[in-house]
Amino acid sequence: RAKAAGGGSFRFYTPDMGEASRARMAMQSALRHALERGEFEVYYQPRVDLRTMETTGMEALLRWHHPVLGEVPPAQFIPLAEEIGMIDAIGHWVLQQAAVQAQAWCVRFGRAVKMSVNLSARQLRSRRLMQSVRQALQASGLPPQQLELELTETALMDDPAMAATLLTELKSLGIRLSVDDFGTGYSSLAYLCRFPLDSLKLDRSFLQIHPGDVSPWRLAEAIINLAHTLKLSVVAEGVETTEHLHFLRSTSCDEIQGSCVSDPVPAAQFEAFMEAGIAQSALSL
Ligand code: C2E
Ligand code: MG
Ligand code: MG
Ligand code: MG
Repeated sequence: RAKAAGGGSFRFYTPDMGEASRARMAMQSALRHALERGEFEVYYQPRVDLRTMETTGMEALLRWHHPVLGEVPPAQFIPLAEEIGMIDAIGHWVLQQAAVQAQAWCVRFGRAVKMSVNLSARQLRSRRLMQSVRQALQASGLPPQQLELELTETALMDDPAMAATLLTELKSLGIRLSVDDFGTGYSSLAYLCRFPLDSLKLDRSFLQIHPGDVSPWRLAEAIINLAHTLKLSVVAEGVETTEHLHFLRSTSCDEIQGSCVSDPVPAAQFEAFMEAGIAQSALSL
């Protein structure tokens, strides 16, 4: 019986794998042309000061609209872009778009907003990165302190010595550096404070708790306090509910991002959001 089941699963699994790898190859070849075909769009999610509920900036989040594949999530296509060597070109494009958009918004909204852009592990190892950042600043005219790069803990810990050198170089441009998804990797805050960082983004998993188990919240609070001791500002990501908001207000967390304020939206919608002062209205929550 067990043998039959094993054989059955083998017969079943092989064609399935074939299909998965065909789908993967189709996605790879589609991805190679996505940039030139104009299928990418940068969405923006507001980042809000927890005390004043003023929008202090936004995070650029890439979207791929494919005519046949539909909306492919970045968690799927970013790793694929790294594998096929497209991440530098895509990352360069996002950086230029985001910097130009941020500068336009500074003028339009009459104040300095910060633009955060994500970098993947592979981009950290690329020679083009420094040039790409310099070019984004020069071409857009965005003051460097208004550009922030987000790097994940795991990307930094991949090769800490190399990361330290690169971060120091990036920091010399005057930009801000942030650790993304903090608390999901294995690194210690003590180690991270050797890098020239400005802020950390508390991973959203800290907010997703089981009813009655508040220990992740206690941990989040401890991380926030420790980060402040190390002169890092803290952004909580994935803030979805009024319960999350109330909890974070009981801590010294600096900024929040999440669906309770706004999901990532296209540029035009972001402008509408700013003009309607929607973040402020979440103050009443
Ligand atoms: P991330 O940088 O940690 O971005 C936060 C993710 O959480 C985004 O997913 C965002 O849409 C989502 N999010 C925001 N608010 C909420 C919320 O309240 N609840 C929940 N459940 N999720 C929320 P997204 O846009 O799918 O991006 C996923 C990841 O893909 C990003 O994680 C980032 O690591 C990567 N990524 C996105 N755009 C780029 C890019 O331009 N370049 C690189 N290298 N990576 C990118
Ligand atoms: Mg991020
Ligand atoms: Mg994050
Ligand atoms: Mg995250």
